[in-house]
Amino acid sequence: MTARILVVDDVEPNVRLLEAKLTLEYYEVMTACDGATALEIASEERPDIILLDVMMPGMDGFETCRRLKADPVTRHIPVVLVTALDGREDKIKGLDAGADDFVTKPIDDVILFARVKSLVRLKSVMDEMREREETGRRIGVDTDGAGRLRGLGGRVLIVDDNARQSKMMIEHLSTEHRTMVETDQAAALIAARGPIDLMIVNVSSSEFDGLRFVAQVRSTEAARRTPILAVVDPADRPRLVKALELGANDILPRPVDPEELQARARTQVKRKRYADFLKEKLDYSLEMAVTDALTGLHNRRYMAGQLQALVSRAGQGGDVVAVLVMDIDHFKLVNDGFGHDAGDEVLREFAVRLATNVRAIDLPCRFGGEEFVVVMPGATLEDATRVADRIRRDVAAQPFPIMGGEEGLTITVSVGVAATSGPDDTPEALLKRADEGVYEAKGRGRNQVIARAA
Ligand code: GH3
Ligand code: MG
Ligand code: MG
Repeated sequence: MTARILVVDDVEPNVRLLEAKLTLEYYEVMTACDGATALEIASEERPDIILLDVMMPGMDGFETCRRLKADPVTRHIPVVLVTALDGREDKIKGLDAGADDFVTKPIDDVILFARVKSLVRLKSVMDEMREREETGRRIGVDTDGAGRLRGLGGRVLIVDDNARQSKMMIEHLSTEHRTMVETDQAAALIAARGPIDLMIVNVSSSEFDGLRFVAQVRSTEAARRTPILAVVDPADRPRLVKALELGANDILPRPVDPEELQARARTQVKRKRYADFLKEKLDYSLEMAVTDALTGLHNRRYMAGQLQALVSRAGQGGDVVAVLVMDIDHFKLVNDGFGHDAGDEVLREFAVRLATNVRAIDLPCRFGGEEFVVVMPGATLEDATRVADRIRRDVAAQPFPIMGGEEGLTITVSVGVAATSGPDDTPEALLKRADEGVYEAKGRGRNQVIARAA
């Protein structure tokens, strides 16, 4: 994809070098040697990306960036700040100024091209989205674009067997996103098929083959378009290049810098959101086929397909699979006492509590009405019972807000648990056992978990 790039640097040879490199990659290059000229060219020429040196006399890169982001005409143009190596302070300042990305000097070509490519893609969908919003506004449809513009609230899957590193990443990402960690490659691949906005994959791990994982994700239909950040040792060139070749969208050099992590995650989540937005209309009918409209969880049909595959694999000597069947207690009283809308609010909140209490590889689904099912690959009856009880407690512990938070209702749930056993087990038999557990839980006074061995 070709694009127009504005290169800003006060040192003439730097400008020429970048110009030469980018031109070789078929980008159209414009140049400026100071901030004021950069602002002028940006607003007249509207480039697709601006590469902006931080250290310039007069108006420095931060100030130039701030002004670009303050002007409605240039605000949407991605700005890549070129900072000194280890310029941690610069990165924080750059983020505050609204920069979209960084590259460090001396500029690494492979990384630079990866960033530019990624941002060009982002910009092109962004432009299309702004256009649609414009059209939407004219015909009076609210396309709700503003909420998506920030790149926050993403579902981030971290695939890393380095506990210290993943802990640090979770710590810095969970203020802005929902994070999940998988240390096992097979489990991560299943999780990758779920609704994920970004994957951060350690490709320099000794224990599991991150590069292979990236390749697998790219060959998996459901995960093909999910952005991937590859965590890699920058000194390990072959690996870094390979990661990009296999389809990683960007590189996160080790040791991972918290601010850089946050900035890159935001950019990629933003990109995913835009891409989703564009696909949304096309895929809407397709998505409806597998998603429950009220809660956004998987629906019964989708669950049935997955469960069938997992149970037959278990029967052939693969991992066990467990299911939780849950039925909200006295749900009719919610509808009768507070109306159907309040009932819907409870169902949505229940879905949130469910989803936040299961592992990334688990499949929480709405089975129908006020019944939910969680399919848990690799979980034994004991594992699943533990999770079920955690969910049960979490549901009962905090009242469910209804009527926009004006009232709170205490909700409880009855749960039945079953796990595969033997080669002849079927999804129907598994669900039936779990269902019997629910029935027994109801009979014993509700708000409890009953596990049913085969
Ligand atoms: P129990 O503890 O025995 O499960 O009692 P219950 O009242 O929860 O059980 P019952 O199955 O009799 O009631 C389920 C109710 O859920 C009845 C139905 O109207 C309601 N319901 C089903 N789907 C929806 C929905 O999408 N939204 C709302 N608000 N209510 C729903
Ligand atoms: Mg029911
Ligand atoms: Mg019920």
